[in-house]
Amino acid sequence: MLSSLQADWEDGLAARRNAGLLRQTEVLQPLPETRPYFRDAQGVRLLSFASNDYLGLTRHPALREAARESLEGSEYGVSAAPLLGGVRPTHEALAASLAAWLGVEAVLLFGSGYLANLGVLSALVAVQDHLFLDRLAHASLIDGARLSGARLQRFRHNDLDHLETLLQRPRKGRAWIVTEGVFSMDGDLAPLPELLALAARYDAAVLLDEAHAFGVLGKEGCGSLDHWGLAAEQVTLRIGTLGKAFGSYGAFVAGPTLLIRWLQQAARSYLFHTALPANVAAASLAALELLRGGDARRQHLGDLRDALQLGLQGRSYLPSTTPIQGLILGSNEKALQAAAQLRASGIYCPAVRPPTVPVGQARLRISLSAAHAAEDIASLLDALEPR
Ligand SMILES: *Cc1c(COP(=O)(O)O)cnc(C)c1O
Repeated sequence: MLSSLQADWEDGLAARRNAGLLRQTEVLQPLPETRPYFRDAQGVRLLSFASNDYLGLTRHPALREAARESLEGSEYGVSAAPLLGGVRPTHEALAASLAAWLGVEAVLLFGSGYLANLGVLSALVAVQDHLFLDRLAHASLIDGARLSGARLQRFRHNDLDHLETLLQRPRKGRAWIVTEGVFSMDGDLAPLPELLALAARYDAAVLLDEAHAFGVLGKEGCGSLDHWGLAAEQVTLRIGTLGKAFGSYGAFVAGPTLLIRWLQQAARSYLFHTALPANVAAASLAALELLRGGDARRQHLGDLRDALQLGLQGRSYLPSTTPIQGLILGSNEKALQAAAQLRASGIYCPAVRPPTVPVGQARLRISLSAAHAAEDIASLLDALEPR
């Protein structure tokens, strides 16, 4: 290996470490319990507040059973791109059920949300177009926007006056507004009624990433449009993931048939990816049923959130109406310290630092799940107390 390359990587790692930005992937063994308990590499038992398993479905037996049943006498992987090796009846059933749930004509499954966003933005947005992205939009949306080659402008988070100023400027191509129903790190909502009205006034298409909204908001968990009383047709398309509230893996794009047919031709991350294993689709299908009927889980989640908010009063805290609760610490060091303090009390909630959040806004991102019990909130609050 070139020694200059090795030196670059060593320098890069040292710089990250010195800035408190070094990241590590932990090996956590799930314990056989319904609550999100894990065992770390040292054998310490930890309660997690770090996952996006909002409804607590990932440990539900119905998902495991669906996956097991689907594997019986079948293949494990699909071993080819959908257009080459075909998809399986389970993929078809999942896509149809997702479309029916959301009240759209069609759904296209993707390997992951990251791939879906890359594919959608690069397939739909032309080089001469203008893309307007919320400042806090997910990295996959930014990367997809860059891949499209279009002019990319970021508007201040949820700031519609700023967005309007940008929309007013003369442009040649089309305008596309990209935002999230629920923001992944702050847990707040995009002001969709006003945003969609603005989009209509300026003839802009709207792409809505519902990664953190599906399962959590709206009737039967069908997301932010329903939450705000808006119709499916008011956005150009919606993107959802199957790895968060669904507790499974994969992603999908939902919209009119014509759009889905075009994406099948033009979204390169669809064309050139291997289809999800059918048993993963089977687990997602089982999850969809639980998610739709998950009002009790959503109610419990709301109760947990209220208890947490009560306990966090007086702290520099971003209260939200979703399971994502941000406790802002500021510097990377402070966030790391807070995470270490929690860990010493058996709670796993790692520090979220730039570039995931803006510089100076390092935080604990407390992610609640319906799998948590009321006493888990009490343990978390207790662990947060200054020692
Ligand atoms: C997690 C996430 C994605 C990516 O989804 P994956 O399935 O994890 O690749 C996309 N958009 C948002 C807003 C997300 O939070």
